[in-house]
Amino acid sequence: VWAKVPLGPRDAILGVTEAFKADKNPKKINLGVGAYRDDKGKPYVLPSVQKAEQQLAKAGHDKEYLPITGLPEFVNAAVKLAYGENSKPLQEGRIAATQTISGTGALRLGLAFLARFFPHKSIYLPDKTWANHAAIVKDCGLEVKHYKYYDPETVGVAFEGFKADVRAAPNGSAFLLHAAAFNPLGTDLTKEQWAELCEIFKEKQHFAFFDMAYQGFASGIFEDDAFPVRHFVEQGFPIALCQSFAKNMGLYGERVGAFSLVCADKDEKARVDSQLKILIRPMYSNPPVHGARLAAQILNSPELYKDWKVEVKGMADRIIAMREALYDLLQNKYKTPGDWSHVKKQIGMFSYTGLKPEQVDALATHASIYLTRDGRISMAGLNSSNIEYFAENVSKAVKG
Ligand code: PMP
Repeated sequence: VWAKVPLGPRDAILGVTEAFKADKNPKKINLGVGAYRDDKGKPYVLPSVQKAEQQLAKAGHDKEYLPITGLPEFVNAAVKLAYGENSKPLQEGRIAATQTISGTGALRLGLAFLARFFPHKSIYLPDKTWANHAAIVKDCGLEVKHYKYYDPETVGVAFEGFKADVRAAPNGSAFLLHAAAFNPLGTDLTKEQWAELCEIFKEKQHFAFFDMAYQGFASGIFEDDAFPVRHFVEQGFPIALCQSFAKNMGLYGERVGAFSLVCADKDEKARVDSQLKILIRPMYSNPPVHGARLAAQILNSPELYKDWKVEVKGMADRIIAMREALYDLLQNKYKTPGDWSHVKKQIGMFSYTGLKPEQVDALATHASIYLTRDGRISMAGLNSSNIEYFAENVSKAVKG
């Protein structure tokens, strides 16, 4: 029956890990996947998560099903972390929210909701974005449109082009916006630029659909990274928000996330909630319980929350230190042609290096250094033992 099924292409990001695993060189480096590593290059289970695990084990929970929209203690705390305690729609009880299967599941559910109920059957994505965005949009039956974001000259944000595209879009269009630590570019708008964008959104009555997969990873401070979300909400927008606890709690494989929609009033929220349940039930019935319990334990315990904040800042700061070190090595020590200051200026887990596909291939072939062909590197894969080897080989690849 499957004789005519064509062989699909390998996943661009997970394919890098496969190639890395097959390489026998002891010096090999994997900068493909966006998972945090400590300075020894090892996966990192946050101490707050370890404590939460112990507390949960002691409490001896059963493994019964969660409700369709997940663990209420988790969902409420996740929403509070994103919108802030003093958020007006939160206090007025008009945010419809549900637990999701991490950030990907939040996107999938949110975009399925748009496909069913949003007046336009399309959404604008940045011209460079996480590859899965377009795939999810298409699989939800929506059309992918693009807005300008990437400026190859500066390896930064083309804000004028971005604004022009927002203005040119039909009134009431949906835009997917990275809330913080833009993947893959590592370049966010400034607060002033967000405020300016928000004014254009008002004129055009556009809909802001936020993807916040890295809250805390850009600045190390949750409130600061949530600025765009909070600003749009303060300005009265009925936004959508996807949250993930994969990166900031290191709960990757536990698949902990949330999706929320700010509604006009409690009645609208009740109707939206009912439709979210109708979408979830035939998709996966109800979400997994363990990771949500871990996150809830941390978010709702003042002690663990305090520890977690410090740990997130620690991860963000280690990445910032790697950026400084990499810039210094590429620019000053190895005198690599070009301006490498973007490496230092970028934020979050990734750096968009501007390396060409041929240079990326050369790095894999000659030095066993693996990254995606668009030149994106996960800064978290660099550490004090491998950064010199990496910089030296990047420099060689650029010099040709
Ligand atoms: N959005 C963006 C921009 C991402 O980079 C990621 C993870 N790479 C996600 C969403 C979702 O990740 P997860 O499903 O692991 O939470």
